[in-house]
Amino acid sequence: MEHIGLFGGTFNPIHVGHIRAIQEVQKRYALDKFYIIPAALPPHKEPGDVVDAKWRLEMIRLSVSEYPELLKSVIISDVELKRSGPSYSIDTVNHFKSVLPDYSRLYFILGIDAFLEIDTWKSFSELFYLTSFIVMTRPKGINIDGALKWKVLEDYIKGKISDTYKFSISRSCFVHHEKQKIFFVDIDSLDISSTQIRNLIKKGRPIKLFVPKKVEDFIINKGLYI
Ligand code: ATP
Repeated sequence: MEHIGLFGGTFNPIHVGHIRAIQEVQKRYALDKFYIIPAALPPHKEPGDVVDAKWRLEMIRLSVSEYPELLKSVIISDVELKRSGPSYSIDTVNHFKSVLPDYSRLYFILGIDAFLEIDTWKSFSELFYLTSFIVMTRPKGINIDGALKWKVLEDYIKGKISDTYKFSISRSCFVHHEKQKIFFVDIDSLDISSTQIRNLIKKGRPIKLFVPKKVEDFIINKGLYI
C-alpha cells in the first residue's frame, strides 16, 4: 500500500504556514508521496489578484528547495494548471485515481476553513468515496478553540456529509461504513494566510517572516502583488 497526500490550494503565494502544515502532516502520517497541487482558477476565489499560475508554481518550487527534508516526499503537480477552466477537486482526485497504481490510498489534505465549505464544492459527496481526508486546524480563520473545533467538525460532517459518520477513538478519525475516513489533526500551525501577505506587500511592509527567503526575493524581483 502506498499512501499519497493531495494538498491543493491557490498558493497565492505559498507561505511558511503551508510549509508548516506539510511538515506537521508528514510528522504524523509519513505519507509516501505528498503532492502539492496549485489550482488554475480557484472556483471559490476572486480571480482579481491571483497571479499567473507559472509564478505560483515557481514559488512552490523555490520553497520546497529550501526544505531538504520535504524533497524526499513532495511532488509538485501541474495537473490542475494543464486543465482548462476552474480547478475542481473531484477532477483532480479522479485524475490521481486513474494514473496511480491500485495499491495507492489517497488522503486529501486541507485546512478546517476549507473543509467547512466542502458542501459547496462540485460533486463533494462523491469525493468521500474516493479519498480519505486529513483536516488540519488553523489558529484563526475560524474563531473557535480546542475541543469546540471537534464539535464544529462533527456537526458539519453529520449535518452536511453523512449522519452515519462516527468518531472512532481507537483510529482517531471519523469512520463510515461506505465512505472513506476523515482524520482531524490539531497541528501546531502558524497564523499566516496568503491574503495577509498580499496586504503587507500592498502596504510596502516586509514579508520576510512569512515566506521562505527565495520566495521573498522572487516576489520582490518580479514586483508581484504590488
Ligand atoms: P488566502 O488567504 O488567499 O485565502 P490561504 O493562505 O488560505 O490563502 P490557500 O492556498 O487557499 O492559502 O490554502 C491551501 C490550503 O492550505 C487550504 O486547505 C488551507 O486551509 C491550508 N492552509 C493555508 N494556510 C494555512 C496555515 N497557516 N495553517 C494550516 N493550513 C493552512
